[in-house]
Amino acid sequence: MNEFVIVGGGVAGARAVEGIRESGADGEILLVSAEEQLPYQKPPLSKGTLAGDDPLDSAILHPQEWYDDRAVTLRLGTRVESLDAAGHTVALADGTTLGYRRLLLATGSSARRLDVPGADLVNVLSLRSMDESAELRARLVAGSNVVLVGAGWIGLEVAAAARAHGCEVTVIEPQPTPLYGVLGPELGSWFTRLHESHGVRFRFEDGIAELTGDGAVSGVRTTSGEFLDADTVVVGVGIAPNVELAEGAGLEVDNGILCDAALHTSDPDIFAAGDVANWFNPTLEARIRVDHWANANDGGYAAGQSMAGADVSYDKVPFFFSDQYDAGLEYAGHVPRGTETEVVFRGDPESGQFMAFWLADKRVLAGMHVNVWDTIGDVTELIKAKVEVDTHRLSDPGIPLGELR
Ligand SMILES: Cc1cc2nc3c(=O)[nH]c(=O)nc-3n(C[C@H](O)[C@H](O)[C@H](O)COP(=O)(O)OP(=O)(O)OC[C@H]3O[C@@H](n4cnc5c(N)ncnc54)[C@H](O)[C@@H]3O)c2cc1C
Repeated sequence: MNEFVIVGGGVAGARAVEGIRESGADGEILLVSAEEQLPYQKPPLSKGTLAGDDPLDSAILHPQEWYDDRAVTLRLGTRVESLDAAGHTVALADGTTLGYRRLLLATGSSARRLDVPGADLVNVLSLRSMDESAELRARLVAGSNVVLVGAGWIGLEVAAAARAHGCEVTVIEPQPTPLYGVLGPELGSWFTRLHESHGVRFRFEDGIAELTGDGAVSGVRTTSGEFLDADTVVVGVGIAPNVELAEGAGLEVDNGILCDAALHTSDPDIFAAGDVANWFNPTLEARIRVDHWANANDGGYAAGQSMAGADVSYDKVPFFFSDQYDAGLEYAGHVPRGTETEVVFRGDPESGQFMAFWLADKRVLAGMHVNVWDTIGDVTELIKAKVEVDTHRLSDPGIPLGELR
């Protein structure tokens, strides 16, 4: 029996190794990943390795020696097919059964697929893995027609990368702006202007009726009846957490694997972290599931500590970042879907350097900056303070954010 088994070779899985070892536990660790590569992180796959010339392996988190030094056995290219929580075993695709004392589910998420005629044509791509990033990079040829389905984070970053390679880019999005459900119309329209100024064309309030082509995709018919030529279609319509193992084992699942603040699932010897975990966040006093890098990084570490027996309360304010053209942005906070918010700007959005805040009941729920670096720590503290703020002072770049708490 292995002391610790980690399922998943993403950031959450790799960081759990650190959490376990830095808590002083020295039992055997086995990390199983369905992918062939050493555990890697995904943000570079839509940025440096797609828009620029960074090698794909720059996304790899640690070399093999790092795992050797920590007495971690890697089983790569091996899927865990099922979990027997009562028996404390996992069954691998190669027929092996492994015992564990404590198990981490860090299985991440999968890209949602389109459910329209032609969705399985060649060159209709998703972007989730290193292999998919390499496949897409090879298709970003100057002058080719790239149609993006969905103006979320992935769609927008791919749009920027495709423009960097001189592709003709059209984005089809059912909402009236990019990122409408995440940031709302005020910020969404800023992203429209950013991308249009770089030559991206949008079709808002439109969808995909069918993808056409003879073997490989060559066109897209939208629900409004427009026909667009397409050499490559990239589908960025969101993700679904990989909860199948948890469901099969009878763990509690509801938009992710339900966990407490110590990242315990409903089984005391099974933990979850990263995209797949829906945990109770003590700072927000709510259960949330977050599919961003920082949560996999911090949550993976916290889960490792918890597996090693440390007393853990994983209470980080959600955080994410994105890079598009010259715009680098960071966002902290959480606005529950459907919350009525007031949006306050600090600085002029048209200058390309500004901040934005989302408030409810005069309290800051979330804040973001574009190219105003070293501010996100103050934004996070303002959110945690949960105090009423004066919106005039909040909008004044001359008043330090620290004075508003
Ligand atoms: C292209 C791209 C760009 C991104 N950019 C950003 C960004 O700029 N900023 C940001 O904050 N976030 C970004 N994200 C999101 C961020 O990368 C994810 O939140 C993060 O990868 C989640 O890490 P994870 O370890 O939970 O899961 P994952 O990274 O999804 O890793 C899960 C691993 O588990 C493996 N696995 C799944 N099921 C099994 C099984 N049954 N058996 C064995 N192995 C299994 C998978 O193969 C995978 O290796 C991006 C995501 C993508 C795809």
